[in-house]
Amino acid sequence: MPLHDKFGRAITDLRISITDRCNYKCVYCRTGNEGALYGDLPFEDYLRMARVLVGMGITKVRLTGGEPLLRNGVVNFVGELAGLRPELDIALTTNGHLLADLAAPLKAAGLTRVTVSMDAVDPDRFARITRVPNGYDNVLAGIRAARRAGLWPLKVNCVLMRGCNEDQIIPFGMFAREEGVTVRFIEFMPLEEDRVWSPSTVVTLDEILARMGEYRPLVEIPHGRSETARRYRFEDGIGEIGIIAPVSHPFCRRCSRIRITSDGKIRTCLFSVWDHDLYAQMRRGASDEQLEDFIRDVVAKKEERHHIGEPDFVPASRTMVHIGG
Ligand code: SAM
Repeated sequence: MPLHDKFGRAITDLRISITDRCNYKCVYCRTGNEGALYGDLPFEDYLRMARVLVGMGITKVRLTGGEPLLRNGVVNFVGELAGLRPELDIALTTNGHLLADLAAPLKAAGLTRVTVSMDAVDPDRFARITRVPNGYDNVLAGIRAARRAGLWPLKVNCVLMRGCNEDQIIPFGMFAREEGVTVRFIEFMPLEEDRVWSPSTVVTLDEILARMGEYRPLVEIPHGRSETARRYRFEDGIGEIGIIAPVSHPFCRRCSRIRITSDGKIRTCLFSVWDHDLYAQMRRGASDEQLEDFIRDVVAKKEERHHIGEPDFVPASRTMVHIGG
């Protein structure tokens, strides 16, 4: 029986955060300080969790963090995941800083595709957002290495935050066309450590479309049911963009995800106010069948939707860097 929650949603996508350490301090995510960490687990523990979940109908595993490429042994881990089931879709979300040297080995190990986060196409702005000098060239080299390695389709995610980088919309449209990547704009969500979010800081889907339309006409591409992004191509056929609009156009009814944090907790929603300690079950000596029962119980309780911007909104119990986006 594949995993379903009580609202009838099939759970097929798993995100595993393999560390909550990060080498960037992006303004929409972290504070400028290091801050406390929840820590991470040996890869063999994540592998067991993934094996049990793949046996329960998970078809896609995405590695994230923190910054997943900071973990030594990540290439080997991808190889072990690939051995769990033929055609398991294994994806990675990374800031791309360390990707140039790792793209080809990751592909050879069985990684299917990669999403690189990049929030400006201008080196100075990029440094101000990430609070890291000279990262831009590394990330660009990482994107190009991923393309050469055949990590395809290659997506570049840009979180837009008002007053910070909304002027990057058209430059990113040009970037998508020149680099042959899909640029996806993400609406800023209240998951940042600095608690600066307010509705007015969100650059919405409608605004992004209007701004990009001033550059070139767009044509909407029909999207798959569980796809979070609305997809558009430029009318002349060169270049694709996507918009992920969890704030202005929530897609909770189609959500197919659960997450495992770097310290082994299951989160059923980005905005969960508690998590479920899968690792504690393993430490207690639970069998695979007992883990399955635990997971089914947890998934049944998955939240119906988030309440961003509503009067009853309660902030998530963790910020994005400690969840794994
Ligand atoms: N370090 C990796 C990276 O930079 O892609 C993986 C972890 S990062 C937390 C995962 C994704 O979450 C990134 O695409 C990032 O831009 C996004 N993200 C972080 N904070 C966010 C926020 N407050 N709202 C929307 N997206 C956010």
